[in-house]
Amino acid sequence: MHYDVIVIGGGHAGCEAARASAALGAKTALATHSIDTIGVMSCNPAIGGLGKGHLVREIDALDGLMARVADRSGIQFRMLNRRKGPAVRGPRTQSDRKLYREAMQAEIKSVEGLSILEGEVIDLSQDSSGAINGITLTDGTAIKCGAVVLTTGTFLRGLIHIGDKRFPAGRMGEKASTLLADRLAGLNVPLGRLKTGTPPRLDGRTINWDILEKQSADEELVPFSTMTNEIRVPQIDCGITRTTPATHNLIRENLKRSAMYSGNISGTGPRYCPSVEDKIVKFGDRDGHQIFLEPEGLDDHTVYPNGISTSLPEDVQWAMMKTISGLENAQILQPGYAIEYDHVDPKALDQSLNLIGTAGLYLAGQINGTTGYEEAAAQGLVAGINAAHFVGQKAPVHFSRTSSYIGVMIDDLTSRGVSEPYRMFTSRAEYRLSLRIDNADMRLSPLAIELGLASPDRAAHYNDVNGRLNAARDYLKSQTLTPQEAAKHGISLNMDGVRRSGYDLLSYASIELSDLIRVWPDLKQFDSDSLNRLAIEAHYAVYMDRQKADIESVLRDENLLIPEDTEFDKIAGLSNELRNKLNARQPKSIAEAQRIEGMTPAGIALIIAQVRKQQ
Ligand code: FAD
Repeated sequence: MHYDVIVIGGGHAGCEAARASAALGAKTALATHSIDTIGVMSCNPAIGGLGKGHLVREIDALDGLMARVADRSGIQFRMLNRRKGPAVRGPRTQSDRKLYREAMQAEIKSVEGLSILEGEVIDLSQDSSGAINGITLTDGTAIKCGAVVLTTGTFLRGLIHIGDKRFPAGRMGEKASTLLADRLAGLNVPLGRLKTGTPPRLDGRTINWDILEKQSADEELVPFSTMTNEIRVPQIDCGITRTTPATHNLIRENLKRSAMYSGNISGTGPRYCPSVEDKIVKFGDRDGHQIFLEPEGLDDHTVYPNGISTSLPEDVQWAMMKTISGLENAQILQPGYAIEYDHVDPKALDQSLNLIGTAGLYLAGQINGTTGYEEAAAQGLVAGINAAHFVGQKAPVHFSRTSSYIGVMIDDLTSRGVSEPYRMFTSRAEYRLSLRIDNADMRLSPLAIELGLASPDRAAHYNDVNGRLNAARDYLKSQTLTPQEAAKHGISLNMDGVRRSGYDLLSYASIELSDLIRVWPDLKQFDSDSLNRLAIEAHYAVYMDRQKADIESVLRDENLLIPEDTEFDKIAGLSNELRNKLNARQPKSIAEAQRIEGMTPAGIALIIAQVRKQQ
């Protein structure tokens, strides 16, 4: 048996990697513990959020799976930051855990050229040059391949902690991957230890919903995928409650019994998703910490209490419920726990997510030190594309941080590494004004079409949307009026005599689309989606012009090649440490030099000056 690409792991990274690789024509296999656990959400039943929602839109633009699966299973769609600027809005949905898993499994089973292999992978094989050329399953079956994408999540030497109890597991109820972790250590892969945690799951029938504040879905449900016309899944409310002084006292009294505070866990946890113990220790009592009670499904009584992830012993978790309004009689179905696991230092990867020095081995997802389904899925897509390109002897595909959040994440990971689980935020993207959720398809679908990643339907849809946008934009730019003419239509402008186009006027916060339709009734011929998109585009156009110059200069420098005969020792002003690192790494481009650990903007400026001198 021989495959071009074998993806190990059927989580969020693995599913995207497998689909992308197969879509590019590589004969692909997804090797995972169990078909039934493909697409499982290990922790919170939700997709998207601030920054994460951008990743989901970008995955969709590249014809990935996550957005359309979320649209088929979402039970509470909300647009976060709705009152803030469109650049930092975050689409989010709570998901029906079962519907999500089923929809993902259906997608994976329908991918042409993709086989599913059930079993645990315990070994990787290499050819005489050290390139990866196969895997071995627990039953001894050896399968050859041209490249491997490793997406094993929290499973590598996973160790669950509940109070002072600890036991090996990949997540609750599933076996850890120990042999594969040993194999990676043998490959001299730089491994580290991280941790994350999850709250107890509650029986919704034992929660007193009547006394709780409610949160509902938005009235207008905005799908993740541009291919979804309508959200058909019924929407539900979730409840909101808070921790109390009694909860805080109980946690303080039992802090030493928490796995995280007893010194039993060596890994670093996610700062932005702290345990309830962390919240009390680091942020004090406040007026209580908010808890969202999120039903896990339409026909499931399980409730996920978002905000109280914990590794306290079970008896303390039960006692904690009694101190929280609405949860006084709540039954715990599964205790909260913390999990520690091995991860690979992502600085050992290049921008295609290939392990530097090991041809054919690509890594994606939580194994690279990230946290979250969206971060994992986005990396899976990148690794899947590049593994398929590697076996097809095509050039690697890199995502620049100037054109996508995916590029921001890959660059952050491979150049800076991680000291705690990495999650996406809009603040990580310096070009966030242009990397918006409303233009993800315009930014990335052309690449998907060029690579052959986009289905014919996706390509046709993109061409249609793009055509409609261009027509509406051309019309708006061709229609102009003076301030005097505008005044006749009730639009007040600075009386400077300057003739402005409809497109210019769209950028004014005080002017609505309906005002322009009054002036130019022909605008009604264009669909509202195109006009709304253009209103956002026009609003940001002024900033865009300034940002464009910055982006162009970054791209120019990133693409600048460093001649082979460059003598780093002779560049005046460079520290000895940087000279040594440059000599050891011999970067071929400025982009590569930027990724050297400890490289400074001043160091890069000196190298650019030297290269320009040599040109
Ligand atoms: P996973 O979804 O873990 O998938 C790994 C896959 O690999 C599984 O299918 C597994 O069966 C398979 N696999 C592993 N080893 C082998 C092997 N040797 N052979 C074959 N198959 C194998 N994220 C957040 O954003 N916020 C949170 O609060 C949060 N809390 C979490 C709490 C817990 C307890 C856990 C376990 C995870 C939490 N996460 C959280 C993280 C989130 O679940 C992950 O980021 C996400 O699932 C990672 O996706 P992945 O594809 O990298 O790995």
